[in-house]
Amino acid sequence: MAFYDVTRDEMQGILAQLEQALYNHQQWHAALIRTLVCQLPGDQHDISPGAHLECRFGQWYYGNVPGRLRDHAGFIALGAAHQHMHQLAASLLVSTRAGKQVTSFDYDNFANALDRMRLEISALERELEDSLYNHDSLTGAINRYGILPALREQQELIKRGTHLCCIAMMDLDKFKAVNDLYGHLAGDQVLISLVHYLIEHLRPYDKVFRYGGEELLLFMPHTELTPGYNMLERLREGLAAMPIDIGGKEPIHITASFGLVLLDADIPVEASIDHADKAMYAAKSAGRNCVRVWDTAYSGGCAPEENGRTALPDQDNVSCAQPAD
Ligand code: GH3
Ligand code: MG
Ligand code: MG
Repeated sequence: MAFYDVTRDEMQGILAQLEQALYNHQQWHAALIRTLVCQLPGDQHDISPGAHLECRFGQWYYGNVPGRLRDHAGFIALGAAHQHMHQLAASLLVSTRAGKQVTSFDYDNFANALDRMRLEISALERELEDSLYNHDSLTGAINRYGILPALREQQELIKRGTHLCCIAMMDLDKFKAVNDLYGHLAGDQVLISLVHYLIEHLRPYDKVFRYGGEELLLFMPHTELTPGYNMLERLREGLAAMPIDIGGKEPIHITASFGLVLLDADIPVEASIDHADKAMYAAKSAGRNCVRVWDTAYSGGCAPEENGRTALPDQDNVSCAQPAD
């Protein structure tokens, strides 16, 4: 879940800078090929150990980019690929300067390094565009139209018996009152804090979708019902304890209700979402700030409560995917 702390404007700025940096790099590459083919003296900077810092692409890369981008694995890999490509370019230049013929082996090594760097640029561009266009602009959660493809893909894995997967619907409790009491902007801040909290506390491969206004769909692959339930309980408790700064004198607190279901490979994903939604409404009916689990074994649809906690259904009774052959 990359780039959550990079704002939309920053993201657009980075994409524009990346495009310019790529153009500069292409200019540099054209000049390098001309130097090699025409056996010109070339630019002294290109044979220095710091060539990757001095080219215009390097000036952008090592310049003032947002910290969150700098820590990103794809950005780091791009830097390594760029530096490696410069090292190989420098050794080609040193050869031609010494009047030696560049071997095809050395040239191919350089060309491969160049391809690798361009692949890293394209991957980073794709990821930035994905963050920009597929994520909700307010909270950074994934837009709801990403839900169905993600869940259908997961169903295929469940059918092959590789793992189980939980989904959960969550809805803020009495959120309208926050808007009414503190204003819509404060409400927006609550939503932003909520999604950041979830992303920070879920695993990197879990996903947070914005399903509706203040309803989120949590997607937890490689998760059976009991660990899924425990994860939601931890989130629920952590969220209830989290002070949210809305710019007033005092931070405020908010709670949420959760409906949990195992993604069922044998029914349409929309039906599993509906079950999670019904379980979430059962949590609302049970007094809010709690987790309820959908279970087809119970006619009411939700597992009954025992000692204030939802009794988890027997895994065999849950309408979950059975491993296919
Ligand atoms: P319940 O516990 O039953 O869920 O009560 P609730 O007040 O949360 O439920 P309700 O559906 O009545 O209210 C949801 C509110 O969420 C109403 C709507 O104004 C608010 N909301 C939805 N999207 C946004 C948003 O993007 N920003 C803000 N500030 N409020 C939003
Ligand atoms: Mg609500
Ligand atoms: Mg709602």
